[in-house]
Amino acid sequence: MNYENFFTTSLDQLHREGRYRVFADIERHAGSFPQATRYGADGERKVTVWCSNDYLGMGQHPTVLSAMHEALDKCGAGAGGTRNIAGTNHFHTLLERELADLHAKDSALLFNSGYMSNWASLCTLAHKLPNCVVLSDASNHASMIEGIRHSRAQCEVFAHNDPADLARKLAAIDPSRPKLIAFESVYSMDGDVAPIAEICDVADHYGAMTYLDEVHAVGLYGAHGGGISEREGIAHRLTVIEGTLAKGFGVIGGYITGSTALCDFVRSYASGFIFTTALPPMVAAGALASIRHLKSSSAERDRMHERVARLRAKLTRAGLPHLDNPSHIVPVMVGDAAQCKSISDALLDRFAIYVQPINYPTVPRGTERLRLTPSPLHTDADIDHLVDALATIWHERSIRHAA
Ligand SMILES: *Cc1c(COP(=O)(O)O)cnc(C)c1O
Repeated sequence: MNYENFFTTSLDQLHREGRYRVFADIERHAGSFPQATRYGADGERKVTVWCSNDYLGMGQHPTVLSAMHEALDKCGAGAGGTRNIAGTNHFHTLLERELADLHAKDSALLFNSGYMSNWASLCTLAHKLPNCVVLSDASNHASMIEGIRHSRAQCEVFAHNDPADLARKLAAIDPSRPKLIAFESVYSMDGDVAPIAEICDVADHYGAMTYLDEVHAVGLYGAHGGGISEREGIAHRLTVIEGTLAKGFGVIGGYITGSTALCDFVRSYASGFIFTTALPPMVAAGALASIRHLKSSSAERDRMHERVARLRAKLTRAGLPHLDNPSHIVPVMVGDAAQCKSISDALLDRFAIYVQPINYPTVPRGTERLRLTPSPLHTDADIDHLVDALATIWHERSIRHAA
């Protein structure tokens, strides 16, 4: 076989479909979020980032940075081992305690990313629970889908955010079998929110475990940043709450929280937890500082939600089609992969605005979009410049406006 030929023809296919991924090479400016330098073919240029998942700018918060500097000087660069062999640093212990407290659970378990926490936890639970059936929301993230697939357990996909369909699927399953319902609170591409209480009602009725991914909600919702489940006062109803330290908290890492026995079970059986070097202590220290800050300060959350409302109102006034939803994610709908990429290029080249195009398979074909994430640090001028640029492009290209 001609291996090189295989690789290049596979890549050609992506190019033809307009979904070949091009990374913007940027250097973020600590202290002037959301500004960055973009390294392009035409040299370096300052840009405003409008698509970061560092939703609150915590990745540059002085409290987080000083905690990381201190821990780096105190403990050095790496953890030095897996959690089991010399790699458990005191910062990991403190962070797990803080996470358990954040979600009002008995215990927490850290992973090197949110992806790994979903993959390893769902895989281990679904594989080890004898004859387990997983009920998976149709819009679940790739990390959950891959974890479930790898468990080789039976998986039933229920209609997105549809407790009635979930109940129908559960009713058809032998009541004696273990059942695990996997879903998210805020869905990252449409920004819609799950009916968590209704899903818990169905789970209780059929004796199923619940596994909630709060990746796009932790730090951002709830009085202490505990996510939608905290805001709704229903954290105690979920068997597992999973989250990331990389988005709202601005650092890196993932975790699950739940009962002491469940976390100990995953700690003891999950390959993706056991056989990998622990997070650097400075990372754990930074995440710890970020969580503690957002537990006691609502200023960042409040300002972000105010910025989101302001951007939405301006988009509506300009007739720009954006998806209405109850979250902080503002999808501007384009509906064509090539057009979406081309608008993103124009925003970057002509207006110094960086918004990555979101195309298939991240979203269904025909729903290609620009996913805007306003932070507390985007100014009125940033918002005006963005909406003006979008309006100019829409006008020049005679793109359909919102009804
Ligand atoms: C980003 C994401 C993850 C993975 O989290 P990382 O910490 O980035 O690995 C998990 N679930 C959802 C829904 C996500 O969007």
